[in-house]
Amino acid sequence: MANTSLSAAVFDPFDRDHLWHPYTSLNNPLPTYKVRRAEGCEIELVDGRRLVEGMSSWWCAIHGYSHPALIAAGEAQLRTMSHVMFGGLTHQPAIDLGQRLLRIAPPTLTKIFYADSGSVAVEVALKMAIQFNPAKSDFLTIRSGYHGDTWNAMSVCDPVTGMHSLFGSALPRRLFAPAPRVRFGEAWDPADFAPMARLIAEHRTTLAAVILEPIVQGAGGMRFYHPEYLRCLRRACDEAGLLLIFDEIATGFGRTGKLFAWEHAQVQPDIMCIGKAITGGMMTFSAVLATDRVAEQVCSGEAQCFMHGPTFMANPLACAIACASIDLLLAQPWQETIARIEAQLKRELEPARELPAVADVRCLGAIGVIELKKPLEMASAQRFLVERGVWLRPFGRLLYAMPPYIISPEQLSRITAAMRELAASLTP
Ligand SMILES: *Cc1c(COP(=O)(O)O)cnc(C)c1O
Repeated sequence: MANTSLSAAVFDPFDRDHLWHPYTSLNNPLPTYKVRRAEGCEIELVDGRRLVEGMSSWWCAIHGYSHPALIAAGEAQLRTMSHVMFGGLTHQPAIDLGQRLLRIAPPTLTKIFYADSGSVAVEVALKMAIQFNPAKSDFLTIRSGYHGDTWNAMSVCDPVTGMHSLFGSALPRRLFAPAPRVRFGEAWDPADFAPMARLIAEHRTTLAAVILEPIVQGAGGMRFYHPEYLRCLRRACDEAGLLLIFDEIATGFGRTGKLFAWEHAQVQPDIMCIGKAITGGMMTFSAVLATDRVAEQVCSGEAQCFMHGPTFMANPLACAIACASIDLLLAQPWQETIARIEAQLKRELEPARELPAVADVRCLGAIGVIELKKPLEMASAQRFLVERGVWLRPFGRLLYAMPPYIISPEQLSRITAAMRELAASLTP
């Protein structure tokens, strides 16, 4: 790729010829920028250029990179034991993390399953719902959702952006209600819940559970919806005898301004998935929390146990770092930090609404979104941003930032300026 301001070294030929990147072609690879190190709120490329991080590496590095507290926890745990199997054994890091999670999770969720990634957590949640009542096997969700890339997680992603058509009949069929229309902060309209209510009424005898991302739909569209939708959904699930699963993998650990997004609505799910920011971005890890009732019924079925157990379940290294990350978050005035980031995102992105190529601007917590009228051309948009010293990874029509909470006002201004400038450079 012709480029005068970036040295050739940031594009590695071995990488280009042999390594698959997320959602990319090996026939016609997009440029990938080679990183030497990452510290604080910056990523340093191999040519020495430093980029301000606006993505938290897909929303997980909430404390930035190389945080000394997380490194210390990791080093200590590595020297003690980085891993032991969880079958028949347990360890203090798993217990310490469990105790922390119970302090911050919805109070009715008291049983914890540790898994190794967000998608696996979603698989686990769906399997729990089936083992809860094997007579019911359907799942209902809302459009514009994202729940991961493994088979069943993919089946509850938005059918269009999740490209269900590519997988044909190999992919299990699910029920989809329209995405909530009434936005967070707008006046509630009960009609918004009517299609979901109808689907629940029609399919209550075969539905095992409803699964959705509470308040913020992330990778399926970056949409923020009204908390009343969740209150209606909780009531409807209770009346129809369905389990309610919240996927808080993107929303957890402060991102929306609450520690978890369910708090905006004050309704508790039966099962909740958390991941991404759980280790502050240091390790892949996730957890599924469930009520006593779910656990009890799952374990009184035919198998007399929950049928899942990954090799790296409750990995002690990940547990120890997750403990340190949660302690670090809770020891700081994170609500004030997120409120400050939200106010600055609103102030600095709102002017983009006037641009001809812009369809919408919206911000909630540490999430700032410019929705464009047309999809971005990825390689040139990425280069535009890197040349302005910021790291963002837009997709489709969505140009958005989800920065680490440690970002300074000056660093955040660089990100919002680059977003405005990119949006201004586009033709509608
Ligand atoms: C990222 C994400 C997942 C999948 O997590 P992975 O760790 O990528 O498998 C699931 N649900 C939501 C809401 C996510 O944002």
